[in-house]
Amino acid sequence: MSTARVKVLEAIGQPFATVEVPLPEKLAPGEVLVKLTCATICGSDLHTLEGKRSEPLPSVLGHEGVGIVVASARKGVEVGQRVTWTSNDFCGHCEACIDYHLPNKCDELFKYGHSPVSDGSGLNGCYASHIVVRSGTPTFVVPDELSDRMVAPANCALATIFCALEGLPVPCRNAWVQGAGLLGIYACALLHHRGVRVFCTDVSEERLALAAKFGAIPLNADAGHWAESRATIQRACPRGVDLVIELAGVSAVLGDGIKLTRYGGHYVWVGMVHKNTPLAFNGEDVVRKCLTVKGVHNYAPEHLSRGLQFLAATRDDYPYEDLVSPPMPLDEIEQAVELAMHRAWARVALKP
Ligand SMILES: [Zn+2]
Ligand SMILES: [Zn+2]
Repeated sequence: MSTARVKVLEAIGQPFATVEVPLPEKLAPGEVLVKLTCATICGSDLHTLEGKRSEPLPSVLGHEGVGIVVASARKGVEVGQRVTWTSNDFCGHCEACIDYHLPNKCDELFKYGHSPVSDGSGLNGCYASHIVVRSGTPTFVVPDELSDRMVAPANCALATIFCALEGLPVPCRNAWVQGAGLLGIYACALLHHRGVRVFCTDVSEERLALAAKFGAIPLNADAGHWAESRATIQRACPRGVDLVIELAGVSAVLGDGIKLTRYGGHYVWVGMVHKNTPLAFNGEDVVRKCLTVKGVHNYAPEHLSRGLQFLAATRDDYPYEDLVSPPMPLDEIEQAVELAMHRAWARVALKP
């Protein structure tokens, strides 16, 4: 019988266990069996491994991936296609799915790479040779011109940015991206591509140098440089910035974000996905400036579809492969995690 090779996290602080899991003999209607060809280590996986985020264990981590269909019980999905898929599975008929158009908040939400290994086939995360894509998870054929490395993080970071940057203020000539992690860099590329002048702030010179390759005007936000960087934005945008997007994961940036947004501008919050995000600003500033403040967590399927089209259309404009490490073998996952912890790459890739 054929088996899948799966890296299982049994407890925080322990090495991954390597487990051989039988491949399903028969798929349920709508399921797709994918042989993974690349997976990337997301910041949320690192948070789990660092114990900052509690997940049910044992678990197969990893939700960013791409692979080849090896068996399909879904109409329109064929063996041999190279695909990626939404990082969440949803029911498609609850209020969140239908009325709110927020399948990412489905009553029956299932998140790949964040669920116990006992949930389903056991092939429910990307740190593995195979994954079973569930019937409520849309798949997307990956354009041939995109490498696995370019595509693997699309179903998390890039799709989230497409969700976050939906419905921009009019006009939107200037934007300030707070944080130059992978989401921040994708935001810079997308806004730059749309003709928006983008300022990007971060405390890391390395990340800022990368943001500059994706169309941003880089500005250092560490304590010693912030006054000068802030003045640069104010000089360039004396009436304030049209759009500010928080991707820093730190609520301390919000006060300046609100102050530097123009009347009627938009402020989108994405990065603060943890409990330590107290707010310290006057609500009056939001009211009197007529601001629109929007929170974004994950995305809907169309955002991933648009993200893939964008990657294909702009693959020669931005150096996407600079964001992801050369793939490391799945069996070297410990070293890959170690490398990812050092944040030398926006993503470290695994090749199962
Ligand atoms: Zn992710
Ligand atoms: Zn639902």
